[in-house]
Amino acid sequence: AAAVGGGDKEAVRAYFNSTGFERWRKIYGSNTDDVNRVQLDIREGHAQTVAAALAMLRDSPDVPLSGATVCDAGCGTGSLAIPLASAGASVLASDISAAMVSEAQRQAAAASGSASFVMPRFEVRDLESLEGRYDVVVCLDVLIHYPREEAQKMIRHLASLADKRLLISFAPLTLYLGLLKRVGELFPGPSKATRAYLHAEKDIEEALRDAGWRVSKRGFISTQFYFAKLFEAVPVAGSSSSS
Ligand code: SAM
Repeated sequence: AAAVGGGDKEAVRAYFNSTGFERWRKIYGSNTDDVNRVQLDIREGHAQTVAAALAMLRDSPDVPLSGATVCDAGCGTGSLAIPLASAGASVLASDISAAMVSEAQRQAAAASGSASFVMPRFEVRDLESLEGRYDVVVCLDVLIHYPREEAQKMIRHLASLADKRLLISFAPLTLYLGLLKRVGELFPGPSKATRAYLHAEKDIEEALRDAGWRVSKRGFISTQFYFAKLFEAVPVAGSSSSS
């Protein structure tokens, strides 16, 4: 049975401060030695998700990135936070893992050359404890670490922080992927340090609806080993549940 509540979260925090940090820093980096074929494929898929999220945000004339306030919840090494900062957005980059946050900070310092760059604010924090209001809230590839109800609760919380846009990516639960995952669980490899939870689109949409939001754009990214749905959501006009 799935661990509940703090169980998953504490395991995820410990993982992303240790072996998970090393593994994902490599995958999200640009070095090509010491990265295997599967990791390279995941790097490529994730880069496409980041690019698609940026394209969705750039394509929103009512929320110009320059000057927008953005909360990147679970920022990892800063793959999205840094290009947003380069576009002039005022970014809060937060992550449950202190190792991830300091790596993001290091990469941001290295990328801070351009005139429009606004240095993000960095915080070690789980997304459940984030507060404040932002034009845009983004949360990419984080929900895979949490079971359905916890993920839905996280979405409702993220929606309460956002005024104009909410961008969420998740590994979709389809018949085929569900099957693959079960086969994978029968043959656990050495690096399976945390559980992976796939999510049904309707569960994500339900959580958004409960929060008074609706999906306005959809993307699907797939490479050989990486699959993600990307949703952009907007508040339902007249909804009062975000106040
Ligand atoms: N969003 C980043 C990206 O797409 O490049 C990182 C994705 S990485 C697969 C997942 C990240 O979520 C890790 O950095 C992990 O530490 C973070 N994370 C996991 N659970 C979290 C939580 N409850 N609150 C905040 N961050 C969390």
